[in-house]
Amino acid sequence: MVKPFTQPIYVTRPILPDLATVTERLRPVWEAAWLTNTGAQHRALEARLRERLAVPHLALFNNGTSALTAALMGVGVAGEVITTPFTFPATPHAIRMAGATPVFCDIDDRTLNLDPQAIRRLITPRTTAIVPVHVFGRACDVARIQSIAREYGLRVVYDAAHAFGGSVGGQSIGSFGDATMFSFHATKMFHTVEGGGVATARGDLHAALDRLRNFGIDETGDVEAVGMNGKLNEVQAAIGLATLELVDDELMNRRRIVAIYTRLLACVPGVSIVTPGWPDQPTAAYFVIRIDAARFGMDRDALYEHLLTYNVVSRKYFSPLCSNLTAYRDLPSSAPSALPIANRVAGQVLALPLYGALPPTAAQAIAEIIRLASRRPARATRLAAPTAAPPTVRHPRLTDGRVARSVPA
Ligand SMILES: *Cc1c(COP(=O)(O)O)cnc(C)c1O
Repeated sequence: MVKPFTQPIYVTRPILPDLATVTERLRPVWEAAWLTNTGAQHRALEARLRERLAVPHLALFNNGTSALTAALMGVGVAGEVITTPFTFPATPHAIRMAGATPVFCDIDDRTLNLDPQAIRRLITPRTTAIVPVHVFGRACDVARIQSIAREYGLRVVYDAAHAFGGSVGGQSIGSFGDATMFSFHATKMFHTVEGGGVATARGDLHAALDRLRNFGIDETGDVEAVGMNGKLNEVQAAIGLATLELVDDELMNRRRIVAIYTRLLACVPGVSIVTPGWPDQPTAAYFVIRIDAARFGMDRDALYEHLLTYNVVSRKYFSPLCSNLTAYRDLPSSAPSALPIANRVAGQVLALPLYGALPPTAAQAIAEIIRLASRRPARATRLAAPTAAPPTVRHPRLTDGRVARSVPA
């Protein structure tokens, strides 16, 4: 029997450096009276992250969305850009803001990343770039994507918002294509409260990103093209430096939770684990399961509601699909019939709470709630009904999606 949690268990919880540490970190910022415009904290964080991510150049931004938009402006996208509908809306938004039209491409049923074969079928004379997403931190098939890009002369900008610290065959996940965007939002593994970065091996692109994040102003003071205000400020850079020191502990604790979920959920009929544990999926960004309603005995939405009655706020990540959102559903590439796998998967996935401070006993209880909810004739009578009155749960919209950014989503 499992009792409902007395406090809501959200899907994530940010790394929170000790407040006294943060104050100490802010002292030099106050002493210098330098709050933004690539100050000392910004430069220090950029250098540390370049090392940590093992990338030649890194340009910090105020968030991942502006980082991705600037990267796409920097490589000069136009016309059509092929991307996945199984992502956060920021991905197609960045394509649109950079002046191109997203073309949604179906995903691979196992990895949930772009299906390279499907990319090939969508290439037209108007295609200029591909924006693959390393979904849930699992690397895309970078070798095949890069070979398609070479064949057709396309740019590739990866969305690695989930893939901090990831690698492919021993190589940093930030070292493929023209550029790779990282998000340092509070809901991501490493964060600067809000923040992002673009990694690139291209010196020319790095120089362009420096201008793009600062209104397009160049070294001479001239402005040749449109730029944005995409700078990460000194306060957030200082917090980022403090957070970075806690990332290894966070990762270790998350892996412990991943191992518990994996052990307890692997044999539950109708549940499959999308994000394998260490070492196959080194980033531990999310723990995502897929529900086969017929075998499980309940569909994903019902399981989401069932978990809520225990005060467990999971997340239907990514649902709805970007191609089904009002802003994008009228695109020719958004027809559900052209995206059968993505549409099916979006109805099956559920991200479970995963963060370093989650007590192992809580992960065990969550896995047990799911196990007991699954259809097992012999155990049907042992279904744990909540023993207390239904707990007060904040409206799911507050925590599902990222409507209320103050609540970890
Ligand atoms: C978080 C996220 C973004 C946007 O990052 P922000 O830093 O929140 O702007 C983009 N793409 C994906 C896949 C994300 O999960």
